[in-house]
Amino acid sequence: MQNIWEKYSQSKLDKMEKFCNSYKDFISNCKTERECIDFFTNIAQKNGFINLEKALAENTKLKQGDKVYSVNMGKAMLLMVIGSEPMVKGLNIIGSHIDSPRLDLKATPVYENNELCMFDTHYYGGIKKYQWTALPLALHGTVVKKDGTKIKVVIGEDENDTVLGISDLLPHLEKEKAKLEIKGEDLNVLVGSKPYLKAEKDKVKANILNILSEKKIDEKDLFSAELEIVPSGKARDFGLDRSMIMAYGQDDRVCAYTSFCAILEMDKPKTTSLCLLVDKEEIGSVGATAMNSKFYENTIAEIMNLCGQYDELTMRRALNKSRMLSSDVTAAYDPNYPTPMNENTDAHLARGISFNKYTGSKGKEGANDANPEFIAKLRRILDEKEVFYQATEMGKVDVGGGGTIAYIMAGYGMEVIDAGVPLLNMHAPWEISCKVDVYESYLCYKAFYTL
Ligand code: MN
Ligand code: MN
Repeated sequence: MQNIWEKYSQSKLDKMEKFCNSYKDFISNCKTERECIDFFTNIAQKNGFINLEKALAENTKLKQGDKVYSVNMGKAMLLMVIGSEPMVKGLNIIGSHIDSPRLDLKATPVYENNELCMFDTHYYGGIKKYQWTALPLALHGTVVKKDGTKIKVVIGEDENDTVLGISDLLPHLEKEKAKLEIKGEDLNVLVGSKPYLKAEKDKVKANILNILSEKKIDEKDLFSAELEIVPSGKARDFGLDRSMIMAYGQDDRVCAYTSFCAILEMDKPKTTSLCLLVDKEEIGSVGATAMNSKFYENTIAEIMNLCGQYDELTMRRALNKSRMLSSDVTAAYDPNYPTPMNENTDAHLARGISFNKYTGSKGKEGANDANPEFIAKLRRILDEKEVFYQATEMGKVDVGGGGTIAYIMAGYGMEVIDAGVPLLNMHAPWEISCKVDVYESYLCYKAFYTL
């Protein structure tokens, strides 16, 4: 199999490195859904994308070549570049998710135990709980006051800022026969040990509440809040050869970033280009901001209407005729853990963007199985544009698999295949990607939009 590093010219290496530096900036600073959407919105506006809400309010007609975006509850987003062909012929859609595994603060998180103050959490998505102890952690999120005022919180990122964390047990105290198992309920974040002298009881908690009140946050405000505990720190080059990137949240923000960069560069495409950045994939794609939400369909209907191309049947036909890359990461083959994997069929680092014809496991259960006619078209365009890709699945037949948003969009009758960056350490606090795979994914998404 190909190792892409052998194929790159010096000028391509330079472009790739520059792209990855911007990606590292993004992934270092955007650790929640809202932070991602704020980042994408800001850049989209600077690149001539019109806010759909504004276009609707002013009844602005849209035409081919126009770029438009719509944000869903601050946590999901749709971007479209309107093509010269009528949308009834189908759209080129790339969809990725911007939520990542983490620990969410509970609605009443603050308590004191043995003169230590803790934040109680409920983990989000598939995590290995032990990986979250004894690490510097940061608190990111939004608190909404009763009057609607929003307070943004980022604590634990600046190198001079304090960090938080979950304590772990000394090995000597861990009996061999009763190996410590960290349960979800044990993921309590230590936030303080200093008493507020004037308080009568729970003095350490009282001190923490005082600190929160300096930020205009009352204890009860934590009920109307979205506060996420995430690994503290920036993305870094990884490996002595700096060939890889270690960062939090690469599942699936690496595909979100690369597909967003691809749509930014679309200029007067033939086929309408659509980029979906969705929330709640890690917990089953349910809820108002998830792929299962009617938001996306409704928004496409609104845009078609402003283009003078809407009626119910036309929209159904447009979705039916569309093509989609469900752009999500996949587990790369890890020589440290060969047992659940198949080295012949799993994705490998440095072999390019990974196409999973189907996900699912144990007899392809729950899989979206992509059509060979569609794959053949993709092969043609990717080979033509010299994009490096690999055809893979995830893990051994009776072991692997895993769901993505693919099956949801396939439900409209469109062609869908999973395509994304292979990762090591997937779902761990610090995930590893290979720089050339990140760059090839961006090139693949650009090529796909010209299909
Ligand atoms: Mn994912
Ligand atoms: Mn995931």
